[in-house]
Parts: sequence; C-alpha cells; structure tokens
Amino acid sequence: MMNIYLDIDGVLVGTASPMSDIVDLLEYILERFPHSTYWLTTHCRWGSNQCAQWLEQNGLPKPLVDRLHRTVRPTHWHTLKTEAIDFSMPFVWLDDALLCSERAVLRQHHAQDGVFLMDSWDDQMALKALAYLKSIGD
Ligand SMILES: [Mg+2]
Repeated sequence: MMNIYLDIDGVLVGTASPMSDIVDLLEYILERFPHSTYWLTTHCRWGSNQCAQWLEQNGLPKPLVDRLHRTVRPTHWHTLKTEAIDFSMPFVWLDDALLCSERAVLRQHHAQDGVFLMDSWDDQMALKALAYLKSIGD
C-alpha cells in the first residue's frame, strides 16, 4: 500500500510536459493507486475542492477529469501541505515547490524520500514521474 499525493500547479498544469504525457501519468495513477491517491494542492484546502474545475479550465480532457474527481481523495490542510500527509504509510508526493517548513516536517519524520520533485520547465518530467512510479513497484 502506497499513498500518492498530487500537487496540480507546476505538476499537472503549467508545465512543459506535453498533455499526452500528463494524461499517461494520471491514467497510470488511477489504475495503479485508485484507493490511495490524494489531492495536495491549494485547489483543495480549507475543506473546499476546486480541482476538477481547475483541471478542466486548463485543458485536461473532461472524461479524465470526471474520473479523477470520483477517485482522487480530497485532503484537509491549512498552512502546510504536510498536515495532510499520513506519515505512518509509505507515500510519493509529486510537487514542484516545497516550503522550507514543509521540508523540515519531512525531515522530522525521516520522510524526505517521499517527495518526487517535479521541474515544471522539464518537458520530460511527466515521463520521469511515470517511470519513477513504475519503478517503485508496490
Ligand atoms: Mg505546485
């Protein structure tokens, strides 16, 4: 069992990766981790989940957005995204920019390895994330 935490901006939208690669990445996550994938983005906080609208506005295919909306679980956090992470479980957190204070929390939990940092300027990034998720097996 592995939890997947997904940022959106700089990871799924606003990135150099081609849409087809982002779709492939999301299809794999939906197929492989349907019960343990969580939004970890400013579009889902304070108990409000705007992820589907935002993804659709940014050009993700509607059928895929609908499946994401049904499958990816919302999180509740206020100041730091790390508030929403379950440190008792292995996880992969796909994000393009962590706060220093979020890095500090990861260090406290010896969980720095859980972050897969996404470079939004790298047009191979979605492919690299997909290869990484496939490589960790589970
Ligand atoms: Mg981001």
